[in-house]
Amino acid sequence: MTNKPAQDTLLPGNIEALTAYSSAKSEKVSGNIWLNANESPYVKDVNIILSDLNRYPDPQPAPVIDAYADYAGVNSEQVIMTRGADEGIDLLVRTYCEPATDNIALFLPTYGMYKVTADTHNVAVNDLSQDLLLSGTVEDIIKAVSGSKLVFICNPNNPTGSITPVEKIAQVTKALAGKAIVVVDEAYIEFSESNSCALLLKDFDNLVILRTLSKAFALAGLRTGFMLGDKSILAPIRKVIAPYPVSTVVAQIAEKALNSDAITQMRRQVTILNKAKLTLLSWLEQSPAVNDILSGDGNFVTLQLKDKSCLSFAAQMGLVMRPFNLYGQDNWLRISIGNEQDLKCVKDWLDVISAQV
Ligand SMILES: *Cc1c(COP(=O)(O)O)cnc(C)c1O
Repeated sequence: MTNKPAQDTLLPGNIEALTAYSSAKSEKVSGNIWLNANESPYVKDVNIILSDLNRYPDPQPAPVIDAYADYAGVNSEQVIMTRGADEGIDLLVRTYCEPATDNIALFLPTYGMYKVTADTHNVAVNDLSQDLLLSGTVEDIIKAVSGSKLVFICNPNNPTGSITPVEKIAQVTKALAGKAIVVVDEAYIEFSESNSCALLLKDFDNLVILRTLSKAFALAGLRTGFMLGDKSILAPIRKVIAPYPVSTVVAQIAEKALNSDAITQMRRQVTILNKAKLTLLSWLEQSPAVNDILSGDGNFVTLQLKDKSCLSFAAQMGLVMRPFNLYGQDNWLRISIGNEQDLKCVKDWLDVISAQV
């Protein structure tokens, strides 16, 4: 008998098969202009006063919950605060999916964490396409997601920017009542003119909306997100969530980020970033080095390069963007909308590679 290391014999098969999610930050890339993780270029100043760190925090800090409910236009009992939207995804899978039995539906290409989370919990994935979601009829969609426990709709979708109309989501949610939970990931909703699905919560108890302070609110480092849903759908999640998920420090900063001045500031920044995006789009449209552009909503632009090798020039310039494999091709790139200086660097890079085509 050979002596296998303990981890080989103790590890469940689905965990052994995992490849760790390669987030924009875990990849050891170097650079000085970071346009690869859809972060905000704005840095928030924070001042905190801590006098009670000897005490456990409020598990769901009421001032933050109330402020977010107010911002989202829902009741406080329809809100759970999480460690980023990513924890919301994890909680939904852990709470509602039976390992080795259930599956989740997702519409590719889309945010990578839905699949990673499902794999981690030995939950299967029902791979569907954005094309079906956007162009298919409600009946087509219902048929395709039949048997799935959770249906993830990223809206606006990362990395394509596409928008699924709220009315269509309402029809899908209605048809799935009692059969599945529709999860609408609204990480980029602040950048979009289109409505949030929060207005549907009064009508449906099989709908959950994921939100975050990581993107428009410029607090990716804080790790704060929210789940919005009917009281009845959130109740089991309250049993599963860690007892003290939100630190006192995080709660204090989040509360301030949600006061009315901070929300006004966030909206002003979104306006500036959306305008900068239009400028970037116009450069890309004029560049002969660019094959295709997916223009949609969100603080990012995804495009197809004629030749992927021109990314090496970006690396030399310290410009970090996110390469993607989309529709079976590896020459896609997602550029986050940074500040003026960051985008000037993108322009310099585009000028170099356009001259070479
Ligand atoms: C960035 C992102 C998240 C993660 O948000 P966190 O709150 O930072 O965990 C979730 N969903 C989508 C679609 C994202 O792009």
